[in-house]
Amino acid sequence: MQPRLKWLTKSVAYIPAPVNTGVLVREAKAILVDTGLDKDHANKMIRALEAENITPVAIINTHSHADHCGGNAQLQHKRGLPVFAPRLEKPFIEDPYLEAFGLFGAAHPPAALQNKFLKAKPSRVTGVFEPDDSIWQWQDFQITLVPLPGHSPQQTGVLCEEVLFAADVLLGAEYLDKHLIPFNSDVIRHRESLYRLKDLAVDWCVPGHGTPMEDHRPSVERNLAALDLIDEWILTNTQTQAMLDELLSRFCSHYGVGMETISQYHLYRTAFAAHASGLTEMGKLCHRVQNGTLLWEAASQNQ
Ligand SMILES: [Zn+2]
Repeated sequence: MQPRLKWLTKSVAYIPAPVNTGVLVREAKAILVDTGLDKDHANKMIRALEAENITPVAIINTHSHADHCGGNAQLQHKRGLPVFAPRLEKPFIEDPYLEAFGLFGAAHPPAALQNKFLKAKPSRVTGVFEPDDSIWQWQDFQITLVPLPGHSPQQTGVLCEEVLFAADVLLGAEYLDKHLIPFNSDVIRHRESLYRLKDLAVDWCVPGHGTPMEDHRPSVERNLAALDLIDEWILTNTQTQAMLDELLSRFCSHYGVGMETISQYHLYRTAFAAHASGLTEMGKLCHRVQNGTLLWEAASQNQ
């Protein structure tokens, strides 16, 4: 289906899709916030903009996941657009092999992990930024770059005219109810991002997936609760030593979380590893290697 622009203010719109694209407009020129999964989506975006006589002039990527930067290559090919991205996300956008490589524990990933959902078409990042809540100026555009790390190392929210494009810091209740395990690479930083988002007063908060919210605070609470559930599960189930895979497997069978592909396994496992690492950083969990396995144990057991 051909999507159409939905306007949130006179000059800020979004293109609704499995991954929303933000459209920041100045005099019929637009910066696009994220580009969707692939070439097909990029072509649909071009048509949606043409229908409103808007010319895309640049791309900002909130982070490097394939479903957010996969349309870059086609937009660069057809329109020669510059791409701006957070400094730490740039290498992954330019060489998407790194995404699957990282997920597979820095070993060469099997072909099944190198699918288009985990490995976008590469694109060239022409400029990098450090998100620090300062105003980023480019041509006639003035945008606040809000640091929202945790889901990915340097995920950035894009704030323009009281509309925040929040990327994947907030996942929808429907997703969380079904899958239970949000993907994060750093749970402590992600939690901090959720807290600061809660305090951020904006007119609209547009998540990467789902519909824009006028009040995003209930969603922040739901996303915090998802983190608490996993942290508590890990601490309860490490009263005696356990391997990370055991913890994940028990969690999935207890809550009926479906896991059928190697991609799902590695996404969930990486999220669980991020929880274990975060709990270790907080002094609540310890790890030791014994008989060739890495074992985790709640810290109170060692005191
Ligand atoms: Zn993402």
